[in-house]
Amino acid sequence: MIAFLLRNLIRAQNSLDNTAMQLCSVVCILYADGEVTMHDLMKYAAECMAELDRLGIRYAKNLRFTVNTRAKTRLGQCKKRGDQYEIEISHLLLDDRTPVESLKNTLHHELLHSCYGCMKHTGRWKAYAERVSAAYGYHIRRVAGREDRELPDELMPEAKYMVRCESCGAEFGRTKLSAVIQHPERYRCGKCRGQLRRVK
Ligand SMILES: [Zn+2]
Ligand SMILES: [Zn+2]
Repeated sequence: MIAFLLRNLIRAQNSLDNTAMQLCSVVCILYADGEVTMHDLMKYAAECMAELDRLGIRYAKNLRFTVNTRAKTRLGQCKKRGDQYEIEISHLLLDDRTPVESLKNTLHHELLHSCYGCMKHTGRWKAYAERVSAAYGYHIRRVAGREDRELPDELMPEAKYMVRCESCGAEFGRTKLSAVIQHPERYRCGKCRGQLRRVK
C-alpha cells in the first residue's frame, strides 16, 4: 500500500499522470498552487500508514484523502462511502505553523476509524489509539479541544465563550454555547479540579 502510494506520488509529481492525479489530488493541487509552505499531506499520511504497518494494524486499503478548507473547529473526519473511506483533513493542520505532530495525531485518529469495527471511539479504536500513541509518542485523542493546543494560537478560531478556573486560572474557550458554558457549576477544571466560572 505504502509503496503503491509513494510510487504514485512520485509519478504525480513528475508527470502529473492522470490516474496518479486522482489518487494524489491533494498533493497535486498544493504543488499546482505553489503552496510550498503547506505540510505535504500525502507524505505524512504515508508515514502514518507505515507506522501502522509496523504494528500490524490493518487500516482500509481503499482510502482517499481530501482537504477541508471550510471547517472551523473540526480537524479531521473519516467517512465511509460504499467500500471506500474518505479521510478529510482540515487545512489548518497543513499550515506550516502547525506542528507536524498535530497533523499526524489527526491522521492516525482518522486512519484508525477505517480499521475493522473502529467507527466509534471505544473498544478496538481506543485500544489501537493507545497502542499507536505508546509506540510512537503520539497523543491520539478521542476529541481534541482547544486546550489540547493542536493548533497554534494564531490559527485558532476565536472563542466566543469562555470559562476560567477559579483556582489555577486556566481558561477554556468554546466557539459554541455548549453545556459547560451554560452550566459551568456542573464541571471542574481538567487541570486541577477547581471550580469554573464563565468570563465571556
Ligand atoms: Zn473520531
Ligand atoms: Zn484549575
